[in-house]
Amino acid sequence: GAGEGMLVVQGLATAYGQIEVLHDIDLRINRGEIVSLVGANGAGKSTLLMTLSGLQPATRGRLTFEGRDLTRVPADQRVAEGIVQVPEGRQVFKDLSVHDNLLLGAYTRGRSQEVMDDLDRMYAKFPILRQKRHNLAGELSGGQQQMLAMGRALMARPRLLLLDEPSMGLAPLIIEEIFDIIRELKKEGITIFLVEQNASQALALADRGYVLETGRVVIEGTGRELLSNEKVREAYLGM
Ligand code: ATP
Repeated sequence: GAGEGMLVVQGLATAYGQIEVLHDIDLRINRGEIVSLVGANGAGKSTLLMTLSGLQPATRGRLTFEGRDLTRVPADQRVAEGIVQVPEGRQVFKDLSVHDNLLLGAYTRGRSQEVMDDLDRMYAKFPILRQKRHNLAGELSGGQQQMLAMGRALMARPRLLLLDEPSMGLAPLIIEEIFDIIRELKKEGITIFLVEQNASQALALADRGYVLETGRVVIEGTGRELLSNEKVREAYLGM
């Protein structure tokens, strides 16, 4: 129902060996929202995404998705539940074709007609990928690789898409394009959790946002509230 979190995180902690890098994280992502997570280098943003997608185990706390406790559920099963991550740095398979990269996104779904239809939809959404479908992913520009990484994730039919720094290393015009795509995905009903260093654009796009500092959520609010928050403006918007 309304206000019921799609993803609810309570008291979550994550450690690398003995070193805890996320402490007592509480957050929620409601169905249909874009939620942005901003924070400095090393604050723990990527670690948080990996904990949500199951690539990094939680050491404490609880994570529920659509009311189901997924805290101990492995990453591949979370993909099947609808939580799909686009990793930092794209991580496309550079020696495989664009086409095969997209198909790999649907590997848990087999090669049904439905998958082929989704592939067609992906090429309609990203015409440049259709044009380059026989090229190796490694031959694409950074922006094209980001589109490919997003397309590959979409082939898994996510309900919650976790995006790690999609604008990293891209030129301003391409960043605009990527943010436009994110807006479109929201219109299509996909819920989005967006990690960005590019705080002003990420918060402008967001329904709500969180600020992470040294492994803790220190500020939360609507995108607008965060954009006008004095501390956020000083620390993350360079004002
Ligand atoms: P960035 O924007 O640089 O990716 P981030 O906010 O995503 O930063 P994380 O990459 O999650 O931050 O890192 C959080 C902390 O965990 C940092 O202190 C980092 O050095 C440490 N860390 C990250 N990965 C590992 C790892 N594999 N082993 C040990 N420590 C790690």
